[in-house]
This record gives sequence, C-alpha cells and structure tokens, in this order.
Amino acid sequence: MPIPIDPRKKPADVKIHVKTGTGVDITWADGHSSHYDFSYLREECPCATCNDERGKKEAFATAAAPGSSPFPALPMFKPKPRAQSASVVGNYAVSISFTDGHSTGIYSYDHLRTICPCAECAKAFRSAPF
Ligand SMILES: [Zn+2]
Ligand SMILES: [Zn+2]
Repeated sequence: MPIPIDPRKKPADVKIHVKTGTGVDITWADGHSSHYDFSYLREECPCATCNDERGKKEAFATAAAPGSSPFPALPMFKPKPRAQSASVVGNYAVSISFTDGHSTGIYSYDHLRTICPCAECAKAFRSAPF
C-alpha cells in the first residue's frame, strides 16, 4: 500500500491511550489534531465483518418501516468497548484489540483522517453525496 502523500492523511504524532482508555489522539502533518474514543473506533471498524454488519443494520432499518414492527425500537444496553491492546502497523495504520474480543480492525491513517469526528473533517472528507 503506498503511503498517502496528502499531508492531511500523514500523521505527525500518534498517541494511543490504552491504559487510561481515553482513546486515540493523532496530530496530522497539516497541523490538525484528531481525537477518537475507542467506542467510536469500534463502531467505525473497517474490517469486512463490521462492514457486513453495518450493511445489515442499514438494510434492517430500511426494512423495518414505521408500523411494520410491533415492538418499539429500544436501544439495547451494551457496555462501551474499550481497547485491550493496540499496536502500530508499519507506518500506515494502527491495529486495535477491543475488550469485546474484536481484534481484526486495522485502521489506516487514511481511514482515520476520513472518520475524524470533527465538523471540519466531516465537511472535507465525508460530504460526498450518497
Ligand atoms: Zn471489525
Ligand atoms: Zn478533524
């Protein structure tokens, strides 16, 4: 995988706070800094299984049109996943093992910058019309 030349997707500093559980902090080559909670990263896990699950959830949400379900949609209680361990993969990604047993997610810096939770990045990277 080629290293992205875009300075917005090149990390200058990466801190993964596994022990304190506060998440991941990345400062990018363009000076922007991003903070990710582990639970957010778990939700945005880019692995095939999670992609699949997200697809199914969307399909389910579409199928369950108003009036078609006798049960009101109750949010299920799930403990927030935290990181069990994390490591840097080469110079292009970080890999995180979560407390819910999931560990196949490899977060490339390219992906991480794209999912930066701030409004600025949402506009810059996620404003593509679907
Ligand atoms: Zn996953
Ligand atoms: Zn951002």
